[in-house]
Amino acid sequence: MAKTLLTFVCLIAGVSFALAQEGPANWGGVCASGRKQSPININTCAAMYDSNLDGFTLVNYDTIQAGVNFTAKNDGTTLKISFDSNVYNVSGGDLPGVYTTVQFHLHWGLNNYRGSEHTVDGMMYPAEIHFVSYNTKYPDIGESLPHSDGLAVLGVFIEVGASENQYYKKFLDQISHVMYKGNSTTFSAFNLMDLLPTNMTKYFRYPGSLTTPPCSEAVTWTVFDDTVKISQAQLDMLRSMKYNNSENIVDNYRPVQPLEGRQMKASFGEPKTMPPVTTDGVALKISNVVLLLMLLLRAAFFH
Ligand SMILES: [Zn+2]
Repeated sequence: MAKTLLTFVCLIAGVSFALAQEGPANWGGVCASGRKQSPININTCAAMYDSNLDGFTLVNYDTIQAGVNFTAKNDGTTLKISFDSNVYNVSGGDLPGVYTTVQFHLHWGLNNYRGSEHTVDGMMYPAEIHFVSYNTKYPDIGESLPHSDGLAVLGVFIEVGASENQYYKKFLDQISHVMYKGNSTTFSAFNLMDLLPTNMTKYFRYPGSLTTPPCSEAVTWTVFDDTVKISQAQLDMLRSMKYNNSENIVDNYRPVQPLEGRQMKASFGEPKTMPPVTTDGVALKISNVVLLLMLLLRAAFFH
């Protein structure tokens, strides 16, 4: 009976990243000792408006580059789409330099109630996509990792919508070619801008880390307020990817990490101002009325 139950649980759970032996709870080094780790919960009330967080400049994101190919890979933990550096660049948005994008990948859950790495006021989204770029002042991504300004990651929450996302379809259709760990396939480049949310002016910003080992604290994180939507069938395609012959890749998100005194910033929201009427003000007005009445009574008494 116990054995049957265990098998049932395993079949349903697949390879749960959070519970696996090689999972986050067993990561060492900076992953365990660092104080600028990611992901984190975004407490929207504690986020401080920063007028320096202006718009991004995205070079070549909205073009299809001739001769550029994308490579989709199942690395056993995620679907990763990688490409050559110095084709797609990101700057602006108060990033400390020009960053070149080299890959994007996703995190997703077993069900629609979990899957994103970052949470917003404690709430998870079903999935999250990360666009990873390194600072062009360093020769390659490896050289960028020891530096706090080494990486910039753009994070976008993914929700389930009613219709198929035609833009996400361009790489999700590659999953059939990379069903098993180690599989990879090459396909033609497409317009990356279409994967990003419509509103890119509203975002959160904080200093953090890679969410997988070596957990380098090199990342300037941008998490957009606006989301993108894919269909339930498209999300299920991600969940169909295999870790091995019997287990699917699901729950490949790292749990949120302590903020450790870091200040979350936001590109939107107004600075807080004092309300026009305070209780002190009301009290003052009442005391004025009482004083006036006393003066009237005194005048009447001494008349
Ligand atoms: Zn990621």
